[in-house]
Amino acid sequence: MKYFLLSIEDGTIYDEKVIPILDRHGIKGTFFLNSGLDDFVWYKEGRPVRRARLEERVALYQNHEVGCHSLTHPHLTELSDDHIGYEVGVDKENLERIFARSVTSFSFPFDDYDERCIARIKAIEGFTAILLPELEASFRFPKDPYHIKITAMDIHNALTKFPVFLEDKDAELFTFVCHAYDFEFGDTYAELEKLCTMVKNSGTKSIFFRDLPEVLESLHHQK
Ligand SMILES: [Zn+2]
Repeated sequence: MKYFLLSIEDGTIYDEKVIPILDRHGIKGTFFLNSGLDDFVWYKEGRPVRRARLEERVALYQNHEVGCHSLTHPHLTELSDDHIGYEVGVDKENLERIFARSVTSFSFPFDDYDERCIARIKAIEGFTAILLPELEASFRFPKDPYHIKITAMDIHNALTKFPVFLEDKDAELFTFVCHAYDFEFGDTYAELEKLCTMVKNSGTKSIFFRDLPEVLESLHHQK
């Protein structure tokens, strides 16, 4: 069995255009959100990118996983242990309150992480999966669910690599990491649709990040 993980980060207004595409194909998305940045706007290629107001988006994410991405999207390696605990712990609490469910997955903001940060996040009760901002070409499962790496972070790259993943008889896991505004700015919603179709038609199992620990655990018992 091959598995597919999809991370969509930052909680921008364009999530509402991505989610219907996922739902049409039965693809499970994990949306890593920052609860301290409602309505925040920044500029990318001269165009505004707007954060959504999470309290108004509870229904939108109901078929998908909500993950923690820190309160305000800082560079976590530059913060003290206490400050990391605050950024991550408060975001987790906020998201659990807003969405009325447990939040067990974390993704690092920016291309910025180290083992100290991972240890600090693991020390917060309830996290079972951590996505690291690092590319990894092997298509193999991570050594543990606190070190999940990225297969592709660009839709064109994902479309090129996915057939290679299918051909590789030892391939286990394909992790695609993106932002909804990538599709808006690149006008690549059709490409996302194509990837979702490929995943579905190939029989690759789409799972949430929160499901990965159980998959790894069950494989461990089979060995
Ligand atoms: Zn981010």
